[in-house]
Amino acid sequence: MSAKADTLLLFGATGDLAQRMLLPSLCALHADGLLDPGLQITGTARADLSDAAFRNFARAAVEKYLPAQRRGSMADFLNRLHFVPLDVTQQDGFGALAKKIGRPADRLAIFLSTAPDLFEQTIAGLAAAALSEGARIGLEKPLGHDLASSREINDAVGRAFPEERIFRIDHYLGKETVQNLIALRFANLMFEPLWNAQHIDHVQITVAETVGLEGRVGFYDGAGALRDMVQNHMLQLLALVAMEPPTHFDANSVRDEKVKVLRALRPVGPGESVTGQYRGGAVKGQIVAGYDEELGRDSETETFVALKAHVDNWRWKGVPFYLRTGKRLPERVTEILVQFRAIPHSIFDGARTRANRLLIGIQPQENITLSLMAKVPGLDREGLSLREVPLKIAMTDAFSGKEKRIAYERLLLDLIEANQTLFVRRDEVEAQWTWIDGIRAQWHAEGLTPKPYNSGAWGPSAAIALTERDGVSWHE
Ligand code: NAP
Repeated sequence: MSAKADTLLLFGATGDLAQRMLLPSLCALHADGLLDPGLQITGTARADLSDAAFRNFARAAVEKYLPAQRRGSMADFLNRLHFVPLDVTQQDGFGALAKKIGRPADRLAIFLSTAPDLFEQTIAGLAAAALSEGARIGLEKPLGHDLASSREINDAVGRAFPEERIFRIDHYLGKETVQNLIALRFANLMFEPLWNAQHIDHVQITVAETVGLEGRVGFYDGAGALRDMVQNHMLQLLALVAMEPPTHFDANSVRDEKVKVLRALRPVGPGESVTGQYRGGAVKGQIVAGYDEELGRDSETETFVALKAHVDNWRWKGVPFYLRTGKRLPERVTEILVQFRAIPHSIFDGARTRANRLLIGIQPQENITLSLMAKVPGLDREGLSLREVPLKIAMTDAFSGKEKRIAYERLLLDLIEANQTLFVRRDEVEAQWTWIDGIRAQWHAEGLTPKPYNSGAWGPSAAIALTERDGVSWHE
């Protein structure tokens, strides 16, 4: 399965994700000469579009979402595009699709950017039209809403595609800074000896959004923050922070190590989780409505969750991983904070020292900041004084000549070139769901309902208490 794809078949080609991410990413890859000249891209959806109409649609999407300097020759890119109207719930349409593609499927890359409840019928249609034979398939999240439904989807996909041809997308893995986490840990000597319970006090992972429901009403209210953010992106970040060194940077080695971490997650206990739901308030100076007002009814869906997680293995014994994510928080930020332990003995009488911290900014700022103690300049007549100073790398400055790419550029290229390293394996997804299902069962047993918090605050006050009772403050 090493051959590059000669055809990319894009389901949901007229959807939001296709417009904002997939078509602009493909155009950028084309502009950079990274797509083989012969690669054809066939879009499908129910809309009755001709090739020409789809090309106009794609042009508008690219012009809206891709900066002009990255577009290259749009005409050549658009010439790669074709369209086949198809309702995936009608199996007889797949024959026409196969005819339009007109090539054996062994070099076909399929990308399902449609609602997951359409996956099963889509896959049955692809198999019946011999479009699954030798082809690889990319699947967008969410892969189910619990372990049982995720297994159902995985079984359905598995009936037509073997695991080595299934590419489950977690777009966080396509982000440069997330991949850089692997480089930081395993291309530098200095972190690994300290990267354990002996030297690390705790880890914080924050994924904060300022937006509210954003038109995702139907989907979000059935999901909530735990399933929308923690189950996938945050657990992948946790796994990358906590995993043992893989022997190689390849699909099996990396995923083998991640799954061990995910399986070592201890079930969250009573009092180790907090949920919230935003009320009206102000975010960045804008007055915004509460979740129930946006939804038009009351709901028990959490728009915020904070958790204290534990990885039960030798390396991480006794090191809490505090996770929090939410909507309508004060700022949009994704970051990982690694808090080291205090020095065992201070030789500086009376001078306060602070334990070192490593802050990895994932978005919007791509920074790595190591906080170190330094001497404050002076003659020290009253004793030496110390202050924390940042050793900071702004990735955009360090690599200023490099284009900032969309995460999907990397993922689409890896799908086309059949590299699974940055895609999630079935056992990982299932380990993730097992842990998440346990949390939801715990909430149910505790009768936990989301506590209100004002938009523009860092979640309900109980989220602060969750860490403060361990003597830890969230990084803000
Ligand atoms: P969307 O805007 O609702 O688009 C859905 C696409 O599926 C449209 O092209 C639609 O076109 C097509 N479709 C719907 N029913 C169909 C049918 N019966 N047969 C064939 N095509 C059909 O959804 P989206 O936001 O692009 O999301 C797509 C997938 O990506 C979902 O799984 C979503 O959870 C996931 N995702 C999206 C985002 C995002 O930012 N949007 C982020 C992460 C994950 P027609 O109506 O013309 O058929």
